[in-house]
Amino acid sequence: MQILLCNDDGIGAAGLIALARRLVELGDVYVAAPDTERSAASNALTLAHPLRARPVDLPVPVKAAWAISGTPADCAKIALANLMPQTPDLVISGINRGPNLSVDIFYSGTVAAAFEGAFKGIRSFAVSLDNFSADACYEAAADWGLRCIRRLLELPIEAGRVYNINVPGIDPQQINGVRITRSGLVDYRENYDHRVDPYGRSYYWIKGNPEIVDQSPECDIVAVKAGYVSITPLKPDLTDFRLFELLGDAKDF
Ligand code: MN
Repeated sequence: MQILLCNDDGIGAAGLIALARRLVELGDVYVAAPDTERSAASNALTLAHPLRARPVDLPVPVKAAWAISGTPADCAKIALANLMPQTPDLVISGINRGPNLSVDIFYSGTVAAAFEGAFKGIRSFAVSLDNFSADACYEAAADWGLRCIRRLLELPIEAGRVYNINVPGIDPQQINGVRITRSGLVDYRENYDHRVDPYGRSYYWIKGNPEIVDQSPECDIVAVKAGYVSITPLKPDLTDFRLFELLGDAKDF
């Protein structure tokens, strides 16, 4: 199997290396990752600058790895279009430092890189760990990620989708299992710190803890907080089909 591995935390990220180390068990792994951290880049593309793809050596027996001077979406697209010898069977992104749940899916560069695979009709996976600390255990998260990916590949899953996997950032022994989830609903409150710089000028810094609005157990964020690995199947088509039907009956605009 040919696998493209991307991320948004950058080519040197511990989560990327930990996941690559396990993915080589599944097939030939090619890594295309940003040369610096590009978290929260969403599906942004670089249009005004050239992209450089610098071959790098990783401490893992991958087929090839490139550090790319662009966004996560740039990395996935250029790897699929130019760098890989053929279209991969899987596109996998992660392991991200921090969760990608609920509306954060829209901002995530990790999920965005996986969507570039889905746009091409490839089975794609995003893996994130709900832990921002430097001593987060990416090896345990990679075990869960690989376990989920292997199991999903046994099932008749659709191509052209992103399977968004989030691993709780708790003691691996405390993880309860896997829950198939839907994207949850959260509300970010007070999400910018207002500060004053040494020259008396205002500035703002994003922060924020999501308040869970929908507490249903099948929501991604609820499952992760309850100690379950969450798998949410995502599709590129954002159409609200209920409203599509409803509005279709009221066409006289
Ligand atoms: Mn990130």
